[in-house]
Amino acid sequence: MTETAIEDVETFRRRARAWLADTMPKVDPDAVPPPPGDDDEEWVRTRELQKMLYAGGFAGICFPKEYGGLGLTPAHQLAFTEESVGYQMPLLLNVPTFSICAPTILDMGSEEQKKERISAAIRGDEILVQFLSEPSGGSDLAGLITRADKDGDTWVINGAKTWSTSAYAADWALCLARTDLDAPKHRGLTMFLMPTKAEGITMRRITQVNGSTEFCEEFFDNVVLPASAVVGEVNDGWAVASRQLFHERTAVGGGSPYVSGRGTGRVSTPKSDLVDIARAFGRSEDAAVREMVGESRAHHVVQQQLIRRVTQGIETGAMPAPAASIMRLFHAETDWMLDDHAVAIAGAAGVTGADTQALAAQLSVNYLMRQGSSLGGGSSEMSRNIISERILGMPREFAADRDVPFREVKRGR
Ligand SMILES: Cc1cc2nc3c(=O)[nH]c(=O)nc-3n(C[C@H](O)[C@H](O)[C@H](O)COP(=O)(O)OP(=O)(O)OC[C@H]3O[C@@H](n4cnc5c(N)ncnc54)[C@H](O)[C@@H]3O)c2cc1C
Repeated sequence: MTETAIEDVETFRRRARAWLADTMPKVDPDAVPPPPGDDDEEWVRTRELQKMLYAGGFAGICFPKEYGGLGLTPAHQLAFTEESVGYQMPLLLNVPTFSICAPTILDMGSEEQKKERISAAIRGDEILVQFLSEPSGGSDLAGLITRADKDGDTWVINGAKTWSTSAYAADWALCLARTDLDAPKHRGLTMFLMPTKAEGITMRRITQVNGSTEFCEEFFDNVVLPASAVVGEVNDGWAVASRQLFHERTAVGGGSPYVSGRGTGRVSTPKSDLVDIARAFGRSEDAAVREMVGESRAHHVVQQQLIRRVTQGIETGAMPAPAASIMRLFHAETDWMLDDHAVAIAGAAGVTGADTQALAAQLSVNYLMRQGSSLGGGSSEMSRNIISERILGMPREFAADRDVPFREVKRGR
């Protein structure tokens, strides 16, 4: 389709509004969320909703047409997202399937991988996840120890991954493994597309402090993958991982054009507005509380402007790709502030779950989970390192393993 043939955003918005009203079920505000960990039905429903979007011609708005998308712009996506508020949407697919894995395959994958995996995800047939972090640590991703050894035309994978969001519900994973022990750590890695149900994979669900079992850990015992599973080039997996991390930081920071609909889809711990919380606990006239509400609101407004500025800066080349870490860091800071202020406003009830019971309990759980926003997509400390080294040009952190063959790198047991 030529540039002039693209439907204008307002016409697209009106068409989306009418279709949503005719087709998509409304969110029930009184629906009881499923108990944490008991969310298989959510995934069945998510696939159904994605299939409905696909059948209606509103799936994969920013993905190219040749891979099943609509080939439209971020402005079209934003219009659809705004219209979709209040309707049930397949929000669980936004991260990591659509905003991290599919764009990475789009940027770095083979023609076959793009045609098969991206199209299947847009149709609602497949879910994609990330196998990056390992039990030995996630920040030093290039230091991972899961191995892929060549055996004729195939690769044999051995090792372990952890913290894989939603892996139990997924079909395919982008899995980073070491393919050359004689190269320095960044140069001996390869990215693979791995079926999550492949023979040799043992998957276990991890129970978090809020009862959710959304995270998984995987153990690989001689998992055999074909040569066509390689994403990008053999031993150039760091280039693929870097692109993936860019998409992850953009997504977590709130700037991905591939996210459709608003919210996380994690209904078990919805965030409440601080004004509602202040009212619920009878503290809306307290000057200190009003200051907290204002501070949090100001952060939220700045966050939205920052997302626009940084995404435009990266798109136009005015800012380097690592600038995505600015959005990602500010997201964590804003999220923390919201959870901290919420508990402070609720006072003792926010800890004991007394008084306005359900809300107080929700705030306590949110507080326990707030650490997650400064870890997922790379930690806040790593974001600060990236901003200082790659954007501000400050000296690089010392690394004893830089340019050392990985085989010779000293590691703890
Ligand atoms: C919500 C959520 C979703 C996630 N989803 C996935 C997923 O789908 N797939 C996946 O593979 N992983 C996933 N992760 C894992 C995530 O990528 C890791 O938690 C993260 O990279 C940090 O790794 P780690 O937990 O092993 O901490 P570590 O790397 O062990 O770090 C521990 C602490 O040390 C600090 N630190 C480490 N190195 C440095 C340094 N050089 N300078 C300063 N401070 C440092 C870190 O900031 C952190 O505070 C997810 C995590 C969360 C919270």
